[in-house]
Amino acid sequence: SITFNQLTKWIVRAAEQIMKQKNYLTELDQAIGDGDHGINLSRGFQEVVHNIQTLETDDIGQLFHTIGNTLIQKVGGASGPIYGIAFIKGGAILKGKKEITVSEFSQFLHKSVEAIKGIGKSEVGNKTVLDVWTPLADYLQEKGENIDWQEAISYCWEQAEKTKSMKAVKGRAAYLGERSIGHLDPGAVSSSFLFEALFETLG
Ligand code: ADP
Ligand code: MG
Ligand code: MG
Repeated sequence: SITFNQLTKWIVRAAEQIMKQKNYLTELDQAIGDGDHGINLSRGFQEVVHNIQTLETDDIGQLFHTIGNTLIQKVGGASGPIYGIAFIKGGAILKGKKEITVSEFSQFLHKSVEAIKGIGKSEVGNKTVLDVWTPLADYLQEKGENIDWQEAISYCWEQAEKTKSMKAVKGRAAYLGERSIGHLDPGAVSSSFLFEALFETLG
């Protein structure tokens, strides 16, 4: 199973990675957006680490609620509310839990995906974060406790890579239309850094 402490470690590790990849994420967003994705997320995750370290609870639902709230307040842009709502709405199903199974984590992802679709009016294949979160939710559900975390990391990056050939129809990248094809989606890449950090923590 996955414990509260492992999930805290995950977020600290993810924050480190996102800060390290700030310039890369920003470069990706310069190509098809406004060049602030790395800056937005780094600012948000820095604050998330601060806020979860002073949190006096071992409730995973509360941990995720704090993460989501902080991201909404600090990230800004399209990605702030999207990442934020994912943790808040998804995290609600983990309320009162001190540890969860892989299957429960996949349920969290499914709920998050629903919430992202709701707020973003987006679907799988639109070249967004959903193109990583959605297949990953299904993948974790299918693998369950037998999951190989190293394979999960590869799977995650394969999904992000697929956004290269997609045409953006949501967010700023949609202004480019056909010209968005050939570029990775910044949010799909940051999502892969996020989940890679989780799988490294668990593996
Ligand atoms: P902004 O585009 O407002 O500057 P960011 O650069 O921080 O915000 O985030 C851009 C990312 O947000 C995109 O790469 C994409 O993955 C995600 N995104 C944008 N719009 C949507 C949407 N409607 N649904 C899902 N994800 C979206
Ligand atoms: Mg941007
Ligand atoms: Mg912006």
